[in-house]
Amino acid sequence: MGENIIPLVDHRYAASVPAVPEVPAPATGLLSDRLGRPLRDLRISVTDRCNFRCSYCMPKEVFDKDYKFLPQASLLSFEEITRAARLFVAHGVQKLRLTGGEPLLRKHIEVLVGMLSTLRTPQGEPLDITLTTNGSLLERKAQALKAAGLARVTVSLDALDDGIFRRMNDVDFPVADVLRGIEAAQRAGLAPIKINMVVKRGTNDHEIVPLARHVRERFGPGVILRFIEYMDVGSTNGWRMDEVLPSAEVVARLGAAFPLEPMDPNDAGETAERWRYRDGGGEIGVISSVTQAFCSDCNRARLSTEGKIFLCLFASRGHDLRALLRGTGPQGAPYSDEEIAGALGLIWRDRDDRYSELRSREMAPVASGERRVEMHYIGG
Ligand code: SAM
Ligand code: SF4
Ligand code: SF4
Repeated sequence: MGENIIPLVDHRYAASVPAVPEVPAPATGLLSDRLGRPLRDLRISVTDRCNFRCSYCMPKEVFDKDYKFLPQASLLSFEEITRAARLFVAHGVQKLRLTGGEPLLRKHIEVLVGMLSTLRTPQGEPLDITLTTNGSLLERKAQALKAAGLARVTVSLDALDDGIFRRMNDVDFPVADVLRGIEAAQRAGLAPIKINMVVKRGTNDHEIVPLARHVRERFGPGVILRFIEYMDVGSTNGWRMDEVLPSAEVVARLGAAFPLEPMDPNDAGETAERWRYRDGGGEIGVISSVTQAFCSDCNRARLSTEGKIFLCLFASRGHDLRALLRGTGPQGAPYSDEEIAGALGLIWRDRDDRYSELRSREMAPVASGERRVEMHYIGG
């Protein structure tokens, strides 16, 4: 089938063209992988570009003016993204998260939100649609996103102190603008709003308590602050274990300022461990991606900006879904929904990724010359 595919393939990350079964089994919503994990969550990266240069994600030295971002023609169109999402939903996906890069940089992103919000699960339920943003354009866009059908939003915010925040985003972006973006999201009725803080020991760990205090006082209990352990994603951020502040320490430090009590998880596969302030001040979460692997419940697939499926945040190989969306089968006809859904089924059934679990047992696969996928390319 290779010769029928439009030659737009870029070789940024290795990807194989998915096999299309001759007689595709219909999607039942009950798919599970080799470790018995269902498919529930699809993270869609809508751009690999960003207006920030957070050192843990897109360090300036690598992502400089000479860096070649994906050309426009290789991006999945909104129609292609919606079609892919619909086929994932047929296989059991209930939650869509738009990410990037900075998703609000993708032109007319609210149009995509509107298209995705028309999708329904096989049971006829609407999907849980959310978006992760650095918040820089949120003040301008919150209302339109809500009107298009976005339910909620996650805003990344690594410090309250303006100097530290400007250094961490490395483009001198002021924290006040992000805080106003969060307010705008609240006004627009996006709820719940989550704020994600990536904690790096020695860089912003002393901001844990001040940020928590500010969120409580300014936004109230409806806004959930979550602390993420700094991860060894990609290969450009110079990750070191001694810069990881374990979640247990975050909880201890925060609990000393505002007493906390544990909460039950919302559902299996949830990445955050939930805690609440004993005084009724709201909820916080910790995401222990490094110190406590949660691979055994991992029900997430990721779709890159140019249509590659990744089954794990730490994968180095993807599955080139775009080749099926744009290509034709052996008879020269475009692939049908049934054929592509059949290919997705095969990919998920064969999945056995569990990188974090293996890393914590010091069994993680050593990179064999292939570059690991970067966070700005695949989203969080
Ligand atoms: N630009 C958007 C943003 O920053 O929210 C969306 C994309 S960003 C890649 C998604 C999330 O990944 C952000 O919350 C970011 O803080 C997080 N992230 C990026 N690099 C990380 C790392 N090395 N460790 C932990 N989290 C990381
Ligand atoms: Fe951009 Fe988000 Fe990565 Fe920061 S974490 S560089 S805002 S994509
Ligand atoms: Fe899922 Fe991979 Fe993260 Fe494990 S390491 S939780 S399989 S994305």
